[in-house]
Amino acid sequence: MKDYRITKEHVWGGLIADHKGALADKLKALSAGGLNLELIIARRETSGQGTLFVSPLRTLNELDSAEKAGLAKAGHMRTLRIEAPDTPGLGAKITTVLAEAGINLVGYAALSLGGRCVTSIAFDSDADADRARTALERGLPRECSALASAQGSDAPPHAGECQRCGACCHGLDVLLTDVEAEQYEADPKLLASTTLYRRTAAPPLRFMKRHADTDRCVALQGTLGQCTCGIYTRRPGLCRDFAAGSEDCQAARRQHGLPM
Ligand code: SF4
Ligand code: SF4
Repeated sequence: MKDYRITKEHVWGGLIADHKGALADKLKALSAGGLNLELIIARRETSGQGTLFVSPLRTLNELDSAEKAGLAKAGHMRTLRIEAPDTPGLGAKITTVLAEAGINLVGYAALSLGGRCVTSIAFDSDADADRARTALERGLPRECSALASAQGSDAPPHAGECQRCGACCHGLDVLLTDVEAEQYEADPKLLASTTLYRRTAAPPLRFMKRHADTDRCVALQGTLGQCTCGIYTRRPGLCRDFAAGSEDCQAARRQHGLPM
């Protein structure tokens, strides 16, 4: 299946000392907290001090572990993660689309393995990341896009199920972006569906709220397999990014006894 998959990720970072073992200590602390990181960038900035950036961090437990390791949300910086077939010129194609959209980049990292390429691009703000995502979804070849795959003959399993399934709406820490948090705070109904995570993050992080007894998102309506998201058109980006047919999707359906 040829496809692009574009998701928005939070980046956390912090300073590290410039001495032997400093990076190992930080990563050991993150590992002890259960984080399974995909992106780790560390570098010396000046003599005696370096910086560390890690991603993704999605759950409350992961945020706690990152804070205990001395990391904090990296300002308003946001990254897009683009997973795509490893084709010649992919980097040029991605950066040309972004250049033509007038978007400046904070950082760019890419790695290819096993025929796939994962690119991580950092932007100055949520708004830039959103514009970049829109530009890439329009600018990268439609026949290769995730949307085309979902609608085509090689559609992933369970495509089209999401408006009744609801399995992944249980036990998932749905973290809102800063832009989404502002939009939800302006709407009392949406705001009531969220909960605030304070700690050291500035601005504070906002999550979708879950029922304490069932662990399901408060926005989910109906019974499992016959339910719908009560805020479907305004659901967070993290929910939109949760791909039908992905390993996580299949694990959620399996866990809740839904057909595979
Ligand atoms: S578990 Fe899969 S099919 Fe069900 S709602 Fe989530 S993504 Fe859609
Ligand atoms: S906001 Fe909607 S799609 Fe997202 S977890 Fe809640 S019910 Fe599911």
